[in-house]
Amino acid sequence: MILSKLNFCSLAFASLFLLFTTSAALAEVVVSSVAPRQGQVIEVTVKEPSGSAEPGSAGVQPASESSSAQAGSAGSSPSSKPGAAAVSPASRSSSTSACPPDAAPHVVNFNDCSYRLFPSGKDANGLLSLRALIGIPADLKPGKYKLVYGADAVDIAVKDGKFPLQYLRLPPGKDNFLMSPGEKEAVEGAKATCSNQRLWRGVFLAPSKFRTSAAFGLKRVVNGKLLNDYFHSGLDFAAPMGSTISACAAGKVVLAKTGFRLHGNIVGIDHGQGVISFYLHMSKIAVKNGDEVKAGQKIGAVGQTGRATGPHLHFSIYVNQVATNPREWFNRSF
Ligand SMILES: [Zn+2]
Repeated sequence: MILSKLNFCSLAFASLFLLFTTSAALAEVVVSSVAPRQGQVIEVTVKEPSGSAEPGSAGVQPASESSSAQAGSAGSSPSSKPGAAAVSPASRSSSTSACPPDAAPHVVNFNDCSYRLFPSGKDANGLLSLRALIGIPADLKPGKYKLVYGADAVDIAVKDGKFPLQYLRLPPGKDNFLMSPGEKEAVEGAKATCSNQRLWRGVFLAPSKFRTSAAFGLKRVVNGKLLNDYFHSGLDFAAPMGSTISACAAGKVVLAKTGFRLHGNIVGIDHGQGVISFYLHMSKIAVKNGDEVKAGQKIGAVGQTGRATGPHLHFSIYVNQVATNPREWFNRSF
């Protein structure tokens, strides 16, 4: 199932290639921030000239089972992905394609990863626009990077996220990131979901009404030792056992599993266009794979399953497999 989702995106790329090469010279590229902080999301909008064929229409076709071999070859892209190597294993796995749909022409490139552009309507002048959301990894070294679209390049200066340190004491047996068989694959597979439709609208809702206890991006000192290559990939809510967890935005459930050693009982919701939210350590799950959910709909209850020392909700939002700061999604409409 995961492979066929990747195929879907690869197929879309293949069929968009022609249009891109003929119209890129006239396109206009707008970036929401050229000086983002680590963990922030930047929005890249590309305006295609009026009169060109609908950019998205050609690619919207279901993937066929037989195309898995093509997806494999698309995965062996020319990109060497130095950025991906710098990303914490906790937030991004090397077992799946480190970049979202790889190496297709109708994309923007940032830090050697390719990001798919999705059609996002026309402006008042009839210009077609395409959009990509790029999450700046929390552990991407601050400094200068290039964002590239065809022949155009924009300088991006990544700023330090200034994430604080958190001191934790964990009992023996819990001071590790061990996972159940198949756990990593299931979570990484859900993260890699890339569906065409944007299912959300407006700002995201907090999934719990209780206070937050650990911010996104924290570096951790566990039992006196700084964890290298680690940052807190989500936002923790200090919510009592059994309290309601609700969907942060409309979407489709792509993961609903119990019993994972690290994540505990977990739900993953695909909001479309590479945006996935996760809810961890749940005591109860009230949805199943494939369910469509509305913003604010109850999806389960807070617990302390998996690696948790007390009841809380760990909530994360991935954008094209990069963990982003959930606070930004509560305050800003993408
Ligand atoms: Zn957490």
